Amino acid sequence: MSKKILLVEDEADLVMMLDDRLRVEGYQVEAVADGERALALLREHVYDLVLLDVGLPGMSGLDVCQELRRMGSSVPVIMLTARSQVVDKVVGLKLGADDYVTKPFEMMELLARIEVLLRRAQASVPAGPVVEFGDVVVNLRGAEVRRAGEPVALSAREFQLLRYLIEHRGEALGRDQLLRDVWGYESALTTRTVDVHVGWLRQKLEPDVKHPRFIVTLQGIGYKFAG
Ligand code: CA
Repeated sequence: MSKKILLVEDEADLVMMLDDRLRVEGYQVEAVADGERALALLREHVYDLVLLDVGLPGMSGLDVCQELRRMGSSVPVIMLTARSQVVDKVVGLKLGADDYVTKPFEMMELLARIEVLLRRAQASVPAGPVVEFGDVVVNLRGAEVRRAGEPVALSAREFQLLRYLIEHRGEALGRDQLLRDVWGYESALTTRTVDVHVGWLRQKLEPDVKHPRFIVTLQGIGYKFAG
């Protein structure tokens, strides 16, 4: 399977050049020109790596990176910074970027850095934190869920919701909070979306869907993970 890279860059020439070259190297590439669209894609799909320009129109690359980590994503991020943005490198790394390259960069250097991060991400999967409840085993970093030893297919969003629940184990989680932290600030969604996804997760993970043991309903509030 070829690795999937999300390219977030607003300079059309650079996008074309990077897109061409990355495809030649065997990567799948999806390109967007602004941060809001990048986050929307990152909420819905799984990528192996993100190339993230700092100077984007609207939301900056730094904001995108911060929001991405706040969502709980550990996808490797390489920031693309301009030479004048020395401060941004430091801030970028603090906000959770894994690496950066300074424009104009040598393609070989970028490719080498991409390879290093992809290898590191792959190597770290088995060592990722593993959470067990009932007959369910969740590998948080590898985004892998098994039930009674069999792989369970979750959508990217279902997995994000499950991870959020696990990371907030025992806490009362309001529907609005879940919507905000798992889905982000997207307009057309209502808290009903949360209920629907919780229903799907229960069907896939609960031993008795009618009497959930792990994802418990708190009347008038929302949900609690009790695994
Ligand atoms: Ca730019």
